[in-house]
Amino acid sequence: MKERIEQVRAALAVNEAALIESGANRFYLTGFPSSAGQLLITPQDAYFIIDFRYVEKARATVKTANVILMENSREQIARLLAQDGATHLYVEAESTSLSRFAALRDGLPGVTLCEGDKIDRALVEARAIKTREELANIVAAQQMTDETFTYILDRITPGRTEREVMLDMEFYMRRLGSEGVSFDFIVVSGKNSSLPHGVPTDKKIERGDFVTMDFGAVVNGYHSDMTRTVAVGTVSEEQRRVYDTVYAAQAAALDFIRPGVACIEVDRVARDLIYGAGYEGCFGHGLGHSVGVEIHENPSCNTRCQEILRPGIVMTIEPGIYLENKFGVRIEDMVYLTENGTENLTKSEKKLLIV
Ligand code: ZN
Ligand code: ZN
Repeated sequence: MKERIEQVRAALAVNEAALIESGANRFYLTGFPSSAGQLLITPQDAYFIIDFRYVEKARATVKTANVILMENSREQIARLLAQDGATHLYVEAESTSLSRFAALRDGLPGVTLCEGDKIDRALVEARAIKTREELANIVAAQQMTDETFTYILDRITPGRTEREVMLDMEFYMRRLGSEGVSFDFIVVSGKNSSLPHGVPTDKKIERGDFVTMDFGAVVNGYHSDMTRTVAVGTVSEEQRRVYDTVYAAQAAALDFIRPGVACIEVDRVARDLIYGAGYEGCFGHGLGHSVGVEIHENPSCNTRCQEILRPGIVMTIEPGIYLENKFGVRIEDMVYLTENGTENLTKSEKKLLIV
């Protein structure tokens, strides 16, 4: 984990320091989950300034930085910068608010606050490539997700509401040991399934509905993400045609994705197939995103991302077709990019299940 701090420091000149305040990056660099705290990386050292609620645990567990009890953090930062000879301070451009930026600029006399995004870029770069340990956490989270899918299958019955199914899944997953939910679970049925990010309602599941479930677990701070769509009782020809198209689009993208190809090309493989089948305009989101200490990380497979895929990336592949006022289908797996290809981390059944 010390290497991660080195990767940030490598982006800095000899008189520059970095202040990390976002929860995800702070956790990534310290391994310490907390709702507050500041990590200051100077040319010589690293300091984790954390308040009384966390300091005891932080002192016992954080190995990558000197743990300091937060008193007046602005004065503490000023003193550490002066002590380590840093005259310029970078913050995270993406997550630092204008008011926070102004407060630091005005509160640190003699220090130049820098507006560039090189800290963000260094961290996106580092976080994209998962270590073995990070991968093991994602795999463990996905195993809980697969197990929850198996559990819920015969509990999706006409008369139960979307919310009941969602709560059942969440409770089961937490009992398996998930630290929380990867994000608010999506359980949508019938007409609601045409909403890609619909919220579970009190609508009762009915025979003939498609039920789309998008969910994931968290293990040691790492997330998993999976979507499955199942039919209840019976399936119409149109439903089957849409399902088969999404399935084929995902299969084509899974077959195509590998190190060396651009994200946009992977998206195109699935998109061309869906549009070619007559569903242009019905797949209005990107094909996938990286997953790690946050559910949505970079790079992403969409119609804009030109980044070249590399070994170590964990990417979702989640094509969908959404027919307004009718129904929708999405199928989502997570793949890990190896040296020569991919490993699919998602083991749940994918052929159309009628429950
Ligand atoms: Zn998802
Ligand atoms: Zn996703």
